[in-house]
Amino acid sequence: MSGSTGRLTVITGPSGVGKGTLVKRLLDKHPEIWMSISATTRSPREGELEGVSYFFQSRESFDQLVAKNGLLEWAEFAGNCYGTPRAPVEQALEAGHPVLLEIELEGARQVRRSFPQGMQIFLSPPSFEELERRIRGRGTDSEEAITRRLSRAREEMTAQSEFDAAVINDDLDAALSQLESLMQLV
Ligand code: ADP
Ligand code: 5GP
Repeated sequence: MSGSTGRLTVITGPSGVGKGTLVKRLLDKHPEIWMSISATTRSPREGELEGVSYFFQSRESFDQLVAKNGLLEWAEFAGNCYGTPRAPVEQALEAGHPVLLEIELEGARQVRRSFPQGMQIFLSPPSFEELERRIRGRGTDSEEAITRRLSRAREEMTAQSEFDAAVINDDLDAALSQLESLMQLV
């Protein structure tokens, strides 16, 4: 990788661990980071905006993106498809930005194959009980979605050792400064 090329970081972790919360803090503090906006077939949650939170797609248009190789990676998660648009990531890296992807496990594995030099970080909860409290406390998911997300979380947590680093999101400030140092922002 040349000196002027940006560094790619992937953050993965079970639903409800606090990825969105931490990433928001990180972006507020480091506006130079370029955050990928994913395509998804999931419906928008209250307050989510098209082109800001996600690019919300029909299944048909998502499948077209896959067919034309427009996604760097994609995966199914809790009944919906999610993927990273390829071209904007490549452009941001070429422009020298630190690039951040917040994606689930299968996608992280695909990115590991295409960007072995990237930094892969697993965000972990202090305990499974605390994870369940956070998902329920967020109040955005149906009981069915919560059950699916918790069962997927158990699977995802067994994959921590595949990652370059694991960060426990117990104290938010402590987790934030660990992320900053792993991303070489400080
Ligand atoms: P994710 O993006 O991983 O699904 P969210 O960022 O939506 O998770 O966080 C899930 C819930 O946990 C939110 O209600 C958030 O406020 C809370 N949360 C996040 N980080 C912490 C933390 N370090 N301590 C306590 N609660 C947290
Ligand atoms: P949510 O529905 O809670 O927004 O996201 C569900 C899961 O999908 C989270 O684990 C999130 O990291 C993951 N995700 C979001 N965007 C992408 C993406 O582009 N690719 C993959 N593989 N996972 C994604």
